[in-house]
Amino acid sequence: MTTTLYTPDRDELAALLDGEPRYRLDQVWSGLYTQLAAPADITNVPKALRERLASALPTSLRQVVRRVSDGGDTVKYLWELDDGSRIETVLMIYPDRVTVCVSSQAGCAMACGFCATGQAGFTRHLTVGEIVEQVVVAARDARAMDRRLANVVFMGMGEPMANENAVWGAVERFHGAIGMSARHLTISTVGLVPGIRKLTERPLPVNLAVSLHAANDELRDQLVPINKRYPLNQLMEACADYLAVKGRRLSFEWALIADVNDRGADAKELARLCRRFQLPAHVNLIPLNPTPGYPTVGSTPKRVHEFRDLLEGFGVNATVRRNRGTDIDAACGQLAAGQPVTLSPKRAN
Ligand code: SAH
Repeated sequence: MTTTLYTPDRDELAALLDGEPRYRLDQVWSGLYTQLAAPADITNVPKALRERLASALPTSLRQVVRRVSDGGDTVKYLWELDDGSRIETVLMIYPDRVTVCVSSQAGCAMACGFCATGQAGFTRHLTVGEIVEQVVVAARDARAMDRRLANVVFMGMGEPMANENAVWGAVERFHGAIGMSARHLTISTVGLVPGIRKLTERPLPVNLAVSLHAANDELRDQLVPINKRYPLNQLMEACADYLAVKGRRLSFEWALIADVNDRGADAKELARLCRRFQLPAHVNLIPLNPTPGYPTVGSTPKRVHEFRDLLEGFGVNATVRRNRGTDIDAACGQLAAGQPVTLSPKRAN
């Protein structure tokens, strides 16, 4: 893999700037991460150096499609990487905050049947530079709308805890270079216990989201196949330890599938699970989004709200998440580069 613009950490960049006055490192670093500038636009360094940087550190994302919906409040980017694989990023503008949903892998090996990325299979891990560049480009776009990107969620393509090292490298860059608060960074996992354990040892208290979807092993084995390897007991223990060490908010994602996991018994079982492991988790509810390879449909909006009320009745905090970008195939679980799901025209691969 070639070194790209956002690959080097500060020390590696210093090595690249060997022979330059020492203050150049600060200028280039803040040019890249504070001004969010391309090397050519870091105008306080000499032109020859800008040119040298631009050729030594090419960008890693080539834009294939940029699609806007929700009146301009949701932007989906489809990127091609240097080896031809494709990934997606989604920028979401809310009245009170701006969030970017990033990919951590091209494809995904976790094979959750209801997820478009899972249906497409795994291509490769992303590098730190490829993850960071998604955020920089989105932050630049947010700034062009006079907004500041402050939140990153690892809920795009891929399983972040299967690529923990690169994900952590990116987290450090968001925190240390861009200046984002760890409280505003969320890593979502299908429940890879070793990854959660590794994250527990990391210094920054980022938010952990676990894609639960079922509160018993039998159903979860079907919905989230990796559950066979890391069943609920192990997963809940890892979550409880994360919470104990970090004191950060833990959330469970629950994609509501009609008559599969949206019944009263499912809500009760989830509440019991939270109680058993004394997990003050927050449950995010979202109706399952349609994907080509999964026949079952999402719960109706009415059922979603009823399920929320049931959980609240059992003492579990739950929020119904607004569904962004459905019309541009940018909604949760719909990211599958080059495979449009609904409105989009067929693209050549
Ligand atoms: N691999 C990570 C992060 C990517 S998916 C994880 O599993 O957490 C982000 C979220 O979207 C997960 O909670 C995932 O289960 C959910 N999701 C996947 N397919 C979906 C679909 N079709 N409808 C709604 N949510 C979906």
